[in-house]
Amino acid sequence: MNPAGLAPYACDPARSRGRRHPEAAAPTRTQYQRDRDRIVHSTAFRRLVYKTQVFLNHEGDLFRTRLTHSIEVAQLGRSIARSLKLDEDLVEAIALAHDLGHTPFGHAGQDALNECMANHGGFEHNLQSLRVVDELEERYPEFDGLNLTFETREGILKHCSRENAQRLEAQQPGGVGRRFMDGSQPGLEAQLCNLADEIAYNAHDIDDGVRSGLITLEQLHGVELFDQFRAQAGAQYPGLHGRRLLYESIRRMLSEQVYDVIDTTLANLRAATPGDVDAVRAQRPLVAFSESMRAASLGLKRFLMQNLYRHPQVAAMTGQARQVVRELFAAYMNDPSQMQSAFAARTDSARSVADYIAGMTDRFASREHKRLTGTELLAPGQ
Ligand code: MG
Repeated sequence: MNPAGLAPYACDPARSRGRRHPEAAAPTRTQYQRDRDRIVHSTAFRRLVYKTQVFLNHEGDLFRTRLTHSIEVAQLGRSIARSLKLDEDLVEAIALAHDLGHTPFGHAGQDALNECMANHGGFEHNLQSLRVVDELEERYPEFDGLNLTFETREGILKHCSRENAQRLEAQQPGGVGRRFMDGSQPGLEAQLCNLADEIAYNAHDIDDGVRSGLITLEQLHGVELFDQFRAQAGAQYPGLHGRRLLYESIRRMLSEQVYDVIDTTLANLRAATPGDVDAVRAQRPLVAFSESMRAASLGLKRFLMQNLYRHPQVAAMTGQARQVVRELFAAYMNDPSQMQSAFAARTDSARSVADYIAGMTDRFASREHKRLTGTELLAPGQ
């Protein structure tokens, strides 16, 4: 174990692969603390509060937004990281940055933007998150972006198509695109954030889904992962109902998944005995659910897909969101001077339009759509 109390297979901030633009070490903070702090102070991070996770930002004050989702992922991630002796600051940095590249209006916005960009290299929100921290943030005199460490950037780029990986590799040989070409893994902190993301949204989408009235506790009877904990909570507290029953069931479900990841990962680490993070990268994924928990989590995801994400009320929003993004894209392509001057001045017009739209909050996109088309869609108060 190194002096910081990290396991040998953890990402050690003192042995980072470094930043694209070399900088002197900070006097009081580790490299990963510094990354986390830069993310928290970024413009893109502040915008997450007004971006849709599943429900539109203005549909209710108690639903998750991309910001509260990211904070929940960071909480779950840190908690698991501490048990595994991984670097908590790196986990937090990745978790807080993982959704920075999301468009307004959730997945509907992203799908529409990807279609608009079909002839211009496409649009992937993971790659966009990397673009935000590498290029789009304008905060420093000497470089574009936040100049984060390799390990944070590696974690942010969760998925990447082969085509985009080749593009990244051409720009930065041996950089964060490489693993999508040679099939290697990211560090454990990044692997952990993927699972923490899944645990977080499975739980909070049940919560938001039930409180919105789009799904009911009765419907959840067939979902094993949730139902066993509702039965447990009901047995210990007969008569418990409504929100307290919902929260108590979700709390137990969250804990069980966290313990499952810790136990399964520790067993994987005992079997694989990686001596350092490079040995981790050469292994199969080591942070994992047990087989039974993986199956149970898939069952819950299927339920949410069928009953929440494809609910007619959510689908109605989805159709309008696609229209807003498509029409914004067409309007800016037609007249780039309608964008903020920094975007209008760029010569790569389609990518510039995609970057501009992707950075928008839900309400800014609605307002811009109304200004440019005269039609009001998805606006607060509708
Ligand atoms: Mg997420």
